[in-house]
Amino acid sequence: MGTITIKNQDELAAMRKAGRIVAEVFELMREKIRPGVTTAQLNKAAETLINKRHARPLFKGYGGFPAAVCISVNQEVIHGIPGRRFLQEGDIVSIDVGAQLNGFCGDGARTFAVGRIDPAVQHLLDITQACLAEGIKLAVAGSRLGDIGSRVQQIAEAEGYGVVRDYVGHGIGRELHEAPEVPNFGTAGRGIRLMNGMAIAIEPMINMGTKDVYRLKDGWTVVTKDGLPSAHFENTVAITPEGPQILTVL
Ligand code: MG
Repeated sequence: MGTITIKNQDELAAMRKAGRIVAEVFELMREKIRPGVTTAQLNKAAETLINKRHARPLFKGYGGFPAAVCISVNQEVIHGIPGRRFLQEGDIVSIDVGAQLNGFCGDGARTFAVGRIDPAVQHLLDITQACLAEGIKLAVAGSRLGDIGSRVQQIAEAEGYGVVRDYVGHGIGRELHEAPEVPNFGTAGRGIRLMNGMAIAIEPMINMGTKDVYRLKDGWTVVTKDGLPSAHFENTVAITPEGPQILTVL
């Protein structure tokens, strides 16, 4: 069963406020990402903004994660640890941001291009974003989770891309990770039925090559097995009688 997170308009507004901070961080990252910036500098800028909004960076200390946001470059899929690495022209960089405000959580991710990138890599970014957008359209009461997963999988696999299986989206509300799991693969018509009041983080992680990933010895960074790039787009979405409401936007 999924958790009913949003019981009234005040709670929806509170979720929106938390989500908006996540979106503000992405706007800041868009300004700061360029060749020569380090991932530690990006993390610091993100953390400063979250603190300025009197919110809490949800990933800091989560399971012992050592930074405010996850920053994953090129073949890194998720959970990259910011550090001294300089971004270079042609890189792609995925930023995953969680913020909690007044007890409610927002979670989102974007993959950014650093300077000019290979058109084939840009296509991976575009398709992953399309996977997220199409998945969100199905985030309505009465849909089943398999409807979302199967749609995302269909779009990615039609391009020959790999859909990560080992990590999935999730319910979200007062906690960062709530029931249910929201996979980016599956069978239409299967899985639990979505209900109004639920909030879910839909987050396709799409690899240019194989779907297979492994975790580096740092205990966090998940990378593609074949070393090809990976993209990650995520939004927190409320299921409402008015349809899907994307909360991690300005
Ligand atoms: Mg998430």
